[in-house]
Amino acid sequence: MDTGEPIPKPPRVLTTRCCIVGGGPAGMMLGYLLGRAGIETVVLEKHADFFRDFRGDTVHPSTLQVMDELGLIDDFLKIPHDRIQKMEGYFGDTKLRIADISRTNAKYPFIAFMPQWDFLNFLRDKAQRYPHLKVMMNAEATGLMWSGDAVVGVQAVTREGPVDIRADLTVACDGRHSIVRPAARLEVEDIGAPMDVLWFRVPKGTETDSLFARLEPGKMMVTIDRGDYWQCAFVIAKGHYDEIKSRGLDAFRADVSRLAPILRSHIGDVKSWDDIKLLTVAINRLKRWTRPGLLCIGDAAHAMSPVGGVGVNIAIQDAVATANLLAAKLAKGPVSEDDLDAVRKRREFPMRMTQGMQVVMQNNIISRALSPGNQPLTPPLPMRLISAVPWLQGLTARFLAIGVRPEHVQSPEV
Ligand SMILES: Cc1cc2nc3c(=O)[nH]c(=O)nc-3n(C[C@H](O)[C@H](O)[C@H](O)COP(=O)(O)OP(=O)(O)OC[C@H]3O[C@@H](n4cnc5c(N)ncnc54)[C@H](O)[C@@H]3O)c2cc1C
Repeated sequence: MDTGEPIPKPPRVLTTRCCIVGGGPAGMMLGYLLGRAGIETVVLEKHADFFRDFRGDTVHPSTLQVMDELGLIDDFLKIPHDRIQKMEGYFGDTKLRIADISRTNAKYPFIAFMPQWDFLNFLRDKAQRYPHLKVMMNAEATGLMWSGDAVVGVQAVTREGPVDIRADLTVACDGRHSIVRPAARLEVEDIGAPMDVLWFRVPKGTETDSLFARLEPGKMMVTIDRGDYWQCAFVIAKGHYDEIKSRGLDAFRADVSRLAPILRSHIGDVKSWDDIKLLTVAINRLKRWTRPGLLCIGDAAHAMSPVGGVGVNIAIQDAVATANLLAAKLAKGPVSEDDLDAVRKRREFPMRMTQGMQVVMQNNIISRALSPGNQPLTPPLPMRLISAVPWLQGLTARFLAIGVRPEHVQSPEV
């Protein structure tokens, strides 16, 4: 019987060796590495481009080392960026230095502050030389395809209609709001984070300061220099956005100006709450990263908080480890779940150590700073000690900037 309803288009079918869901740092780096190894790979990215306001901007020495090993570093460092060696901020009125990367033996001893869309565009452009890699933009994964208890691909929607992508291996790189992990019924261990972030930009005046972080009783903010504007992160206690809004925009602007006087002259350009985005912060991790035919990495396996600016770099390290452990096997055919689990075994320790540091920082410093009350903030003893002893700043820098178990790119021959 003809109901007059349009008949839904049957999905197109694509077949590939590996389907990566999500074109963030983990997904684009893994796509690049598998394409380089000559493995048929499709990356699905739900957005039309990488240009989004919120992307972590910190490219750490561990990631610069990876770019060096890929032979990309010279071109990469031609992209406009700022270099930071000393991580400093104000705790109340006390200026503290918590890490000094110049004291490490990193080949590139600095953090490159670069908009993440520049980083991802760069990887995509360089990957064009690899014919086995296909990056599909505007392609949103909506579900998994199963055969018994094994994942055999991904269902996606694109501007041209639905697509079924059949793949020997699916890798979830779809971030902390992953749709793949619930679809695969993977259990999440929630560690929790006491804060969220209000994210907005303020045009630049004639200020010359660059990175700036300040904690005051009940408030905390960070500003990142993005050339012609400041990218601002105002950290709030989780769940307190409505309360902040109810005090009005003028009160919010006044708080921002007090914490970051460099923003005073242009804070009026934040004209409504629509100019401010609420970013939710999470720390969690999967108990199991795999199903047969499926692996989760990056924030999809372990959501990182902004503390230390490490999440992007951990995601890149996951991608390098995945390619190192799986590319040769994947080139020959499907890989076993034990092979996939080798990635978790390799990456779980550094991930847990890093999340542990984030939890210590958020519970001892951020929670204290954000708790109500006007008592003066004094930095905890370990922070004062690190700030006073330069070689300790080298240790913290090594932990943050190079990481616990740095990954190195292996040769592409598989
Ligand atoms: C407020 C905040 C600030 C942070 N600041 C920093 C920082 O300064 N430095 C730092 O190193 N880390 C920072 N982090 C952590 C960092 O953002 C993450 O750890 C990192 O982005 C993880 O990379 P990823 O590739 O795993 O996931 P993501 O970067 O989240 O990338 C996931 C990608 O998948 C795409 N996607 C999602 N769903 C689908 C779908 N269904 N189909 C297709 N594509 C999909 C998304 O569009 C996205 O491109 C911050 C985190 C928060 C919450």
